[in-house]
Amino acid sequence: MALQISEHAGTSDVGRQRSSNEDALVCEPPLFAVADGMGGAKAGEVASGLAVEVLQEDTEGHIEPVEAHMVELVREANRRIYELSTDDESRRGMGTTLTAARLHDGEVSLAHVGDSRAYRMRDGSLEQLTNDHSLVAELERSGQITAEAAVHHPQRSIITRALGPEPDVEVDTYTMTGRDGDVYLLCSDGLTGMISDDEVASILRSAAGLDEAAEALIRAANQSGGKDNITVVLFRLGDGDDAGAAAAPDETLAGEFTADDVAAQAETESKTGRAGPTAAVAERPRRADPLPVEPVARRPPAGRRRRGRLRLAFKSVLALWVVAAVVAGLYAASRQVYFVGTNDAGLVTLYRGLPYDLPLGIALYEQDYASGVPAREIPRTRRGRVLDHSWRSRGDARDLVRQLERGSLDSGGAGG
Ligand code: CA
Repeated sequence: MALQISEHAGTSDVGRQRSSNEDALVCEPPLFAVADGMGGAKAGEVASGLAVEVLQEDTEGHIEPVEAHMVELVREANRRIYELSTDDESRRGMGTTLTAARLHDGEVSLAHVGDSRAYRMRDGSLEQLTNDHSLVAELERSGQITAEAAVHHPQRSIITRALGPEPDVEVDTYTMTGRDGDVYLLCSDGLTGMISDDEVASILRSAAGLDEAAEALIRAANQSGGKDNITVVLFRLGDGDDAGAAAAPDETLAGEFTADDVAAQAETESKTGRAGPTAAVAERPRRADPLPVEPVARRPPAGRRRRGRLRLAFKSVLALWVVAAVVAGLYAASRQVYFVGTNDAGLVTLYRGLPYDLPLGIALYEQDYASGVPAREIPRTRRGRVLDHSWRSRGDARDLVRQLERGSLDSGGAGG
């Protein structure tokens, strides 16, 4: 009757825009993990590979208490990545996220560092189990930006905790009692940065098995742009009794849910106005409505027709002018605004424009000046305030960056 892993699937995809895959995964019951490496010149691959390697090293020995054991392995992985990065100049600054899960004695334990995520699907609803260690998530948790702003934030890839950059690392842990039918999902931000939680849930509910679900998740992330490597690990808990039957092809992820249950849930969702899968699709940015055109079905007499055509042409031109004027105004306004953030290399950077991305990857900002100051050198307590993307004048923004470069921002004085 003991709870077992009745089904599992793990897969990783390079995505549509990267040339190499720096993610790594473990999918070996009862151990599962996702690691998302970072650092140039293949260093990210080395870091994530090392993280999962260390995690897998000790599956025999004493593993109880499970959480403490997992933390020890994660800290060991951190030490090794840190040492490798300090020994080798080309690997300086490399790091990786790591989100790991282990089933033991009917309980699922998680160890987590970074912005990869763990989710659980139970009774048809999806819940995020981990907190992201990212700048944007911290700003959101402290109420400085909204969840909506976080989704499109230009600095959403900056993480505040990782394995590798420091000699030791703080590891989040969670342990929860498993239940027959639970489905756990571990994934890198190449999935969650591309599709919403509602889309993830809807795919998990409709897939016929975990292999199919994993493939569908990757396909959906790629269809939404595939900007990053995508890694998905899934496992399902089942009673020992039906472990053999769990692989039956007609079983769906909805588990014991009947069509009536699903319909009832859909009804509740629409009543309470909670965003269901359909609502999520409707929320996505849509193309602008076509310009208004007069109906052509009723044909007026010839004299009025010409005037009508002229009026229609005039209206179309006017509408185009209004659109052009609004776009030009927005553009001109965005040229007057600056904000401070970080670039891909983690350096404090001055940007000109507005801190938002439009659909199709159109950025409303451009880099004005990259300082030589790594964002992590700003004291943690000040970091959020400096990198909060407040709109600033050019002078203010430049002064701020200059102060950072001189190390004079902190009245406490950063010694050097
Ligand atoms: Ca990533």
